[in-house]
Amino acid sequence: MLRMIPAGVGAMLLSGSRAPAAEEHQPRAVATPRIPPTPSPKPSHRRHGAPDQQHRPRLSRPVFTLREYRRAVPGPAFPGDAVALTIDDGPHPLWTPKILRLLARHHVPATFCMIGNQVLGHEAIARDVVRDGHQVANHTWSHPTHLARKPGTKVSKEIERAQDKIYSTTGHAPALFRSPGGDWSSTVLGAAATAGMVPLDWSDDPRDWSRPGTEAIRRRLLAAGPDRSCCATTAAGTAPRRTRRSRPWCPR
Ligand SMILES: [Zn+2]
Repeated sequence: MLRMIPAGVGAMLLSGSRAPAAEEHQPRAVATPRIPPTPSPKPSHRRHGAPDQQHRPRLSRPVFTLREYRRAVPGPAFPGDAVALTIDDGPHPLWTPKILRLLARHHVPATFCMIGNQVLGHEAIARDVVRDGHQVANHTWSHPTHLARKPGTKVSKEIERAQDKIYSTTGHAPALFRSPGGDWSSTVLGAAATAGMVPLDWSDDPRDWSRPGTEAIRRRLLAAGPDRSCCATTAAGTAPRRTRRSRPWCPR
């Protein structure tokens, strides 16, 4: 389902609109130097839900690597040994807190691709993810299979409903969108662009969702080289491990 390395481990980038908070929490998961947030236009606010974000040019394909992300979202170059980690399909009441503790212990930032109806009922965990300084991506409202076969209205509704729930819960409006299963079409890419989001895929998939065993997951993740983007799934109950050779980096 994941081609890059997302959920247990995956977190790629995330820039987005964030609501002003009375108290900004300092990220405690990240000790590495931070790239300044990508400037984004001041969003207008709809009467309900997440703020509208400026439409982006429609990309012909999603972003697979850090280098491709930087081409889509200009900013400082990432360190040469950076690996993006993305963690999909949460928040999960058991595994997401475990993953957050592990990431904090190793000072690793990640991107959590959240499903809107998973945020529902797990609001405090979703807020913990943002409080810890991680990025959040929109991963649709209901994680439908074959999103690329759905009509544009259905695709947009999946994106907007999830965006509204994530924003109303965390105060963060994601600027990254990941299609379930990496299922892309011109319709899906167009809906993401209209919503002001960068389509995010992955380059390495440890296939943790198939439960191949800890050692196999570990081996596959450690095989990911610099510039790669890794995807793991929260629901699979796997936890990310930091590679010794490569430093995960969270573009912002
Ligand atoms: Zn997923």
